[in-house]
Amino acid sequence: MGKASKDKRDIYYRKAKEEGWRARSAFKLLQIDEEFNIFEGVKRVVDLCAAPGSWSQVLSRKLYVPAKLSSASRDADLPLIVAIDLQPMAPIEGVIQVQGDITNARTAEVVIRHFDGCKADLVVCDGAPDVTGLHDMDEFVQSQLILAALTIVTHVLRVGGKFIAKIFRGKDTSLLYCQLKLFFSQVTFAKPKSSRNSSIEAFAVCENYSPPQGFNERDLYHLLEKVGTPSGVDDLDCRSGWLEGPNKIYIPFLACGDLNGYDSDRSYPLPSSSEGRLYKSLDPVQPPIAPPYKTALELKKASSHGIVDIEKLSLNSDL
Ligand code: SAM
Repeated sequence: MGKASKDKRDIYYRKAKEEGWRARSAFKLLQIDEEFNIFEGVKRVVDLCAAPGSWSQVLSRKLYVPAKLSSASRDADLPLIVAIDLQPMAPIEGVIQVQGDITNARTAEVVIRHFDGCKADLVVCDGAPDVTGLHDMDEFVQSQLILAALTIVTHVLRVGGKFIAKIFRGKDTSLLYCQLKLFFSQVTFAKPKSSRNSSIEAFAVCENYSPPQGFNERDLYHLLEKVGTPSGVDDLDCRSGWLEGPNKIYIPFLACGDLNGYDSDRSYPLPSSSEGRLYKSLDPVQPPIAPPYKTALELKKASSHGIVDIEKLSLNSDL
């Protein structure tokens, strides 16, 4: 699809470039905030799976930049924003970057160290594995990312704090809801208007972190294992799947973002046709600096230029 055609068919892609966001995902976090006011009182944040960085940009613009501009703020009082991803990303004002795998305990330790004994008010996670299109598989790998994110949450989030995580809605959604409900008094699944209806993506908005009494964060994996087994934790009456009739649980599910606003599944005419002026498609604000598909792109470009020494090229491009 050409750039102009994508501009027409994806209004949020076009608006992201016009407003200086690195990715259209920025609107998802902004629309979640419109509904849930997630940034209120927030001074320390972790952005998990952050590249190319549009959520970090939102955090920087909403929290860091205003605090920096306010003359009352001393350096020590400036918000702390730590962003983690497998991929490197171009710098963003006020954002500390950690490159690593969130499922790796060592990455979690680096994040925790940045907080130096303090706790975060908010953890966000927009993590997504490369989607295969096999819904069961995608949902499973996504749930592993959420588990890793939740493990970091239990180490860094303060009691009362919030956690926003991308989920893929599927047959195990109720189980995930129950697991999150163990740690947060309020859990809502939200679908921002900028997230396409055709996508099974949604966001768990978890408020008021309140781990179960006696919970030890190192026990998280055991606890989650138990919840998944019908004979596991006796007093959990919200295990999904096998609950019927009056015991069936209903997950709070909310559409967010201005309902009269742009519809991510609609095509919008480009200004050239509607306003009689020449429309120029903008370049992306900040292309990923080392995307995992870089080698594939280079190989494709090379083959279209008739370069045959593919092996040499693929070796070089890993450097
Ligand atoms: N929120 C980002 C933004 O607004 O620019 C977009 C995130 S993108 C949808 C998903 C990201 O998850 C990718 O950059 C990918 O590298 C990252 N990711 C996937 N698995 C990861 C893992 N195990 N550890 C760290 N990052 C991971």
